Amino acid sequence: FTCDLIRNFSIIAHIDHGKSTLADRLLELTGTIQKKAVGRNEQVLDKLKVERERGITVKAQTASMFYAFCGKQHVLNLIDTPGHVDFSWEVSRSLAACQGALLLVDASQGVQAQTISVFHIAQERGLKIIPVLNKIDLPAAQPERITAQMQSTFGIDPEDIISISAKTGQGVSQVLQAIMDRIPPPRGTTERPLKAFLFDSLYDRYRGVISLVAIQDGVLKKGDRIASCHTRKKYEVTEVGIMHPEEMPVTSLFPGQVGYIACNMKESSEAHIGDTLHLAGATVDTMPGFQPAKAMVYAGIFPIDSSDFPKLEEAIKRLALTDRSVTVQRESSTALGQGCRLGFLGTLHMDVFRQRLEDEHDANIIVTAPTVPYKIVYKDSEVCVSNPTEFPDAIDVSSKVKEVQEPVVRASIIVPEEYFGEMMDLCFTHRAVDLEHRYLDAGTGSSSRIMLNCILPLSEIVTDFFDQLKSRSSGFASFDYEDAGYKTSNLAKIVFLLNGKPVDALALIIHRSKEDEIGRLWVKKLVKVIPRQQFEVPIQAAVGKKIIARETLKAYRADVTAGLYGGHVERKMKQLEIQKEGKKRLKRMGNVDIPQDAFFEIMSSK
Ligand code: GDP
Ligand code: MG
Repeated sequence: FTCDLIRNFSIIAHIDHGKSTLADRLLELTGTIQKKAVGRNEQVLDKLKVERERGITVKAQTASMFYAFCGKQHVLNLIDTPGHVDFSWEVSRSLAACQGALLLVDASQGVQAQTISVFHIAQERGLKIIPVLNKIDLPAAQPERITAQMQSTFGIDPEDIISISAKTGQGVSQVLQAIMDRIPPPRGTTERPLKAFLFDSLYDRYRGVISLVAIQDGVLKKGDRIASCHTRKKYEVTEVGIMHPEEMPVTSLFPGQVGYIACNMKESSEAHIGDTLHLAGATVDTMPGFQPAKAMVYAGIFPIDSSDFPKLEEAIKRLALTDRSVTVQRESSTALGQGCRLGFLGTLHMDVFRQRLEDEHDANIIVTAPTVPYKIVYKDSEVCVSNPTEFPDAIDVSSKVKEVQEPVVRASIIVPEEYFGEMMDLCFTHRAVDLEHRYLDAGTGSSSRIMLNCILPLSEIVTDFFDQLKSRSSGFASFDYEDAGYKTSNLAKIVFLLNGKPVDALALIIHRSKEDEIGRLWVKKLVKVIPRQQFEVPIQAAVGKKIIARETLKAYRADVTAGLYGGHVERKMKQLEIQKEGKKRLKRMGNVDIPQDAFFEIMSSK
């Protein structure tokens, strides 16, 4: 055995630039999977239903391939990475097990915001980068221009760029050649004691936690007694194998290899990402680990039917086992009952988690409005608040709060020049500061691309920012951000009152410049959705003791469909049905009875 026969690499790119498609072609070319008919595109590595439906990769997947090169059997370990901003934690984690990366750029779209961020992650990790220009089959492809962009943005030598179509397979064998020629084999030796780097974990109902490892030194075999540097716990290895691309047991894993192990780990928290595993009794130096994933967005998840809580909690825990970046806590609300408060890396991450909960666990849930983690600074202490109910009702002398801080991000937007004005406007209406910009294309011609950088409050981008970015740039703008710490801000809590009683589940933390706008918007929404009662119900928005918006829900009228102007018959039918269903289960909020479904509609409308 020798490390020289191994290559560990990853494919990195902006979302949709063709990572999963190229991964499929490589798996085919090496005979790892059967060749599919051209045009049938079901990415093998995108295993989750939500990934196939949305065409995005959420979880990094690993695949080992065998490839005969110069008369010798080589092992290529491919680690597919997600492309969306929310998942950059997964990207840096995957890259730690690699020596090289294919940097994929769409020949029609060019360098995008994520292309730049993943390039920097790979460069910081000292990986050999192979630049690949994809989708050259597209009529809109502009290979010369994008090549120049890659040269000016990353200092890439145009000679090094490989032009391919991952769709048709054109040029893909050159990529394989370049992987062999340009990416250095991992350095490790069987002479030194076992040292395995744990970079991911999966959960299996029968075998418990399955850890994905990259062997640095030594050999790992079934039956070995191993120990974790992080927890100091010891385990017996019950199975070792490689992903080919499905799990395939092998007798041992050698230095430089990437594979999985099962060792009777019961709790996924025992598989600490970035941990070093070694033989029990031996001592090794630990490898530098990772920054733990940091939750950026929090939301409460509640069962529609309160009696479903134990089932829901079980489903959430199960799902969290497969997604190590989610944090889970219990939460209870007067309006919604028992639920869980979850922390996510971003809103797409939250959305994906919700969809998986519904798809894979058949859960009926209400998700509350997302909140970012705020910091409340007192005279000599600091409290982090990620739930509006914990936010002080009033920030004044009496509350002893010195100041409130909110998380901010360093954002970059790449956009064709003609949308520059729109993007500046978008940034300003979302409280951007420190705006600056520069041209990405060298000689500015028609439709040059501009990169815009600014500091934005995180709370501004967790709601509609991304949708607006896309619609106001006709889909041409791309966006990425990174954590930029905390900043003092003028924030307040809006509380909504029904019949004079506050409804805890509806409270929001907002910037004071937007309190009137948001207050009015929500009371209008509430008055539309809440069915009339036998008495008149005031619906109010309040900040501290001050009422900032009000609507009045008129008293009950027999025909529930009367309030629906211009409604289609279908919608009226649905309304009647909702009423029928809802009668069975009423939620009582501030002595107002609200059908479950209406509540669901309030919470789910953004
Ligand atoms: P990922 O998000 O980077 O994993 O991108 P995918 O591999 O899912 O590809 C995104 C879309 O681009 C899919 O619809 C692919 O079929 C398409 N695509 C990928 N490579 C090519 C290519 O070389 N040519 C063309 N025309 N389309 C491609
Ligand atoms: Mg993909």
